[in-house]
Formats: sequence, structure tokens, C-alpha cells
Amino acid sequence: MSHPLFDISGRTALVTGSSRGIGLALARGLAEAGCTVVLNGRDTSRLAKAAAEIEGTGTVHTAAFDVTDGPSVAAGIAEVEERVGPLDILVNNAGMQLRAPLLEFADADWHRILNTNLTSAFLVGREAARRMTDRGHGKIVNICSLQSEVVRPGIAPYAATKGALKMLTKGMCADWGPHGVQVNGLGPGYIETELTGPLVDDPEFSAWVRRRTPAGRWGRTEDLVGGVLFLASPAADFVSGQILYVDGGMTSVL
Ligand code: NAP
Repeated sequence: MSHPLFDISGRTALVTGSSRGIGLALARGLAEAGCTVVLNGRDTSRLAKAAAEIEGTGTVHTAAFDVTDGPSVAAGIAEVEERVGPLDILVNNAGMQLRAPLLEFADADWHRILNTNLTSAFLVGREAARRMTDRGHGKIVNICSLQSEVVRPGIAPYAATKGALKMLTKGMCADWGPHGVQVNGLGPGYIETELTGPLVDDPEFSAWVRRRTPAGRWGRTEDLVGGVLFLASPAADFVSGQILYVDGGMTSVL
């Protein structure tokens, strides 16, 4: 029998950007833990496919909206709460990567990556937290990154968004903690997904990741599930403003 501190069955969870990759794996984990799960993304057919994939594990709903657009977010969260129920858990996971030397990085790309990785967490977080703080409880997990701490050439804008997301997490903790809402971050290391596809396919880079990671391998999306379940559970009721790195040890070693 599992410890009651880790019991999150019956909770309702929204995971943004969960039509594939890390978001879908986290949504599956939350559904397996007994949560009612709401999948989000922009593409309705991809969302329907993702929902069908994990339907056997629990109660799954979908809500298509663009997390970078304020009015769509406000309407999306209101509609989810009306149709599915009050949100207990929000995972701000939607994100993107754009790799280019900083000298060549275009203005439009800068704004796009900032909107997708950072502004989205503010917009969705604020909208969900308005309701959670009224109710006096809630858990928010922002998906940060190894690159909230360290960077390599060609991904400065991405690292800037993830570093800022770490501080937004601490700021949300400061503002919403007094109202019973715990906000934490989860920082994945190198995980095999569509986003990292070009790196996984590069034998030299892939070998570097394996050498550089104490665990000696790329991460799998399932590796991240335990951390999110913990941060969403009563076991983390006094944990707030922290970033839990799940990176096979990479941020700890030179
Ligand atoms: P992914 O495979 O590219 O999936 C991204 C998801 O976000 C998709 O479901 C996508 O669906 C959705 N999305 C993108 N823009 C959106 C928008 N404006 N509105 C709503 N949904 C949107 O990425 P991933 O590798 O799973 O990464 C997920 C998160 O983990 C990101 O925040 C990423 O930065 C972070 N992360 C990943 C790694 C890694 O190694 N993979 C490491 C550290 C951190 P649609 O395109 O259909 O909207």
C-alpha cells in the first residue's frame, strides 16, 4: 500500500503542452495516480490522438488553446473549470527550443521563444492561481530545465527563458504561498523527445551527453513522472519555490 502522503487520487490536473513528449508522459503519470487529467496543446487532432493513447489509464479530457495568448488562456481555464471541475494541479510544461548562434538570432524568434516558454507560465499560472488562491489550495509545477542553471553555445535565448522561469517560480511561491498554493519547478536534463530529436540523432552530441551524465544515458520521459507526482502531492505541502533537477546528476558534475 502506498503512503497517504502521496495519494493524489481524485484530484484534477491540467498539463499544458501535453499532446506529446514530456507533457504527455506527465499527464499519463498523473492519470495513473488517479487524477482526472486535462491535456492541452494547439492542435486538436494531435490532442485527440494523445487522449486516446492514455484513456485506459484514467479519466482524460482535452482543452485546445494557445498558452501564449492571454484571452485564449483566460477563456480556456474558465471553460476547463466549468466542464471538468476546479483545478487542483497545474503543470506549466508547454515549451519550445530554437537553436541558433546568438549573433544571428532574429527578433521575432526571441519574442516567440520568450512567449512560449515564459509568458505562457505567467498567463496560465495567474489564471489558474486566481481560482486556486480563492479556494485556499493548489499545486503548480513549472517545467524548468538543466538550462535554468547552465548553458552551452547556440541556446542563449532558451536558457534565458528557463532561468527566468526559475525566478518566476520563486516569485509565484512568494505571492501565492500565503494563500495555500505551492509552486515548484522541475528541471529535466537531456530527455529524448521531439524537441531534442536533432541532438539525439547527432552521434557526437549523444555520446557527449552519455559521457557528461553520471547516470550514463539520455533521460526518458518516464524518469520525470516521480518528481511531478511528489510535487503535486500532500507530501510536498511545505515544499515551495524549489527546483527539483531530474538530470541523471548532470548539474552536479564538471
Ligand atoms: P515537445 O516534444 O516539443 O512538446 C511540446 C508540447 O508543447 C507539444 O504538446 C506542443 O503541442 C505544446 N505547445 C507548444 N507551443 C504551445 C502553445 N503555444 N500553446 C499550447 N501548447 C503548445 O517538447 P518536450 O521535449 O516534451 O518539452 C516539454 C517541456 O520540457 C518544455 O518546456 C521544454 O523546454 C522542457 N524541457 C525539455 C527537455 C528535453 O530534453 N526534452 C529538457 C529540459 C526541459 P502543439 O505544437 O500541438 O501546440
